[in-house]
Amino acid sequence: MKKKFYITTPIYYINDVPHVGHAYTTVAADVLSRYYKSKDEDVFFLTGVDEHGAKIAEAAKKAGVEPKAFADSLVPRFQEAWKNLNINYSEFFRTTNPKHEEIVQDLILELKDKGFVEKKKYTGVYCVACEKFLLPDELVDGCCPDHGTKPEEHSEENYFFLLSKFGDKLSKAIEAGDYEILPESRKNEVIGKIKNGLEDVSISREKVEWGILFPGDESQTIYVWIDALINYWSAQKVFNQDNIWPADIHLMAKDILWFHAIIWPAMLLALDLPLPKKVFAHGFFTIGGQKMSKTRGNVLDPNTLVEKFGADAVRYSLLREFPFGEDGDISEEKIANRYQSELSNGLGNLVQRTISMINKYEIRISKSETNSKSETRKISKLIEDLKFDQALQEIAGEITKLNQYIEENKPWELAPKGSLGWTKTDQTKLAEVLSHVHSGLVDITPQIAPFMPETAEKMKKQLETLEPDPLFPRI
Ligand SMILES: [Zn+2]
Repeated sequence: MKKKFYITTPIYYINDVPHVGHAYTTVAADVLSRYYKSKDEDVFFLTGVDEHGAKIAEAAKKAGVEPKAFADSLVPRFQEAWKNLNINYSEFFRTTNPKHEEIVQDLILELKDKGFVEKKKYTGVYCVACEKFLLPDELVDGCCPDHGTKPEEHSEENYFFLLSKFGDKLSKAIEAGDYEILPESRKNEVIGKIKNGLEDVSISREKVEWGILFPGDESQTIYVWIDALINYWSAQKVFNQDNIWPADIHLMAKDILWFHAIIWPAMLLALDLPLPKKVFAHGFFTIGGQKMSKTRGNVLDPNTLVEKFGADAVRYSLLREFPFGEDGDISEEKIANRYQSELSNGLGNLVQRTISMINKYEIRISKSETNSKSETRKISKLIEDLKFDQALQEIAGEITKLNQYIEENKPWELAPKGSLGWTKTDQTKLAEVLSHVHSGLVDITPQIAPFMPETAEKMKKQLETLEPDPLFPRI
């Protein structure tokens, strides 16, 4: 059986309100999924939520409900956001799935049996919001760099995964290209950290009750991060997929690259399982030049954006603004500008005026030569390399060119003028000009489809039926 093309997003922390950062990763995964489907790949696209950990238990307690019921109540928030953004995932993962819990325990047991798990005393400072121990050099003025809160002293006896044994093996796998870490700058960061030596990592918690019980020692639960990473693997059994592993691409934001690029592959190496083919970490957002934070009240809600601009324009703008692997800035104003300049005035107007002229001058469209094949190849390569901004820039360039072509050839001047009627040369030329633009639009339709599926669908229909309908109405 042919292996499926397996794409993942992280499973998002269920207590988070879906924001534009979650949307960014998930839209990118959806674009890849739709693109590979169009290449006849059998795609399995997984997203979901991470439901365990002290933070959830705490929040559930505050809400006065059991953690599982609390998690149940939050799942629709993510599912609805993805529906609004037209995310066509294959399955939605939940870490409270009993099959998953069993598989996690089995894998931990296997790691133990192979001699890669040891019980040790650990003392350190722990950020509950991060759900992780912080190293002294990570602290900023004694506080968590991400949360600005003072981490708690923790001293407990935990089970450790012997990560320190896997530095060489990981380096070799990266060098051999068996698994890729992207972008290049992140890969170098990871290689540097491996060279400095890897420390064993704690994979259990003594005081966290809301989690999967540690096999053989029910006084501990499995560390929520370890439970979460295993979702990529356990999805096979949870969703009866026996031809998806190894994952073709794990997508995530850069702050969790360490877990995905080091800890997860090391666990797989320890278990003699194949490594994911590619791990890609994208950058962080600022919103209108400022760090996104609840306290500043500048958290962008993807649902509100979709309400204002439609799913396609939001998908387009998020990936268009800056390179996927780098940090960048986004704001409602920026999305509005893209909408106005490139979608409404650019693509929407081009489709509208072309079809209107074809109808008005009663032109019979003939298939015309465009340079679409080389353009399409170029755009495909850019999508495969996750250079979404460049792919969209190419497409925007093609649209600009077609609009310029109309301006230069002035089809309206070729049209019959009053009672003078129509010369044969003008008629032929007019048909040529409009056919060229029509063909150009037919070629652009599949290129934009992974990014703006609804628009592509509408364009296809309008170009066939020649019944124009505004694609991006003025807001
Ligand atoms: Zn923190």
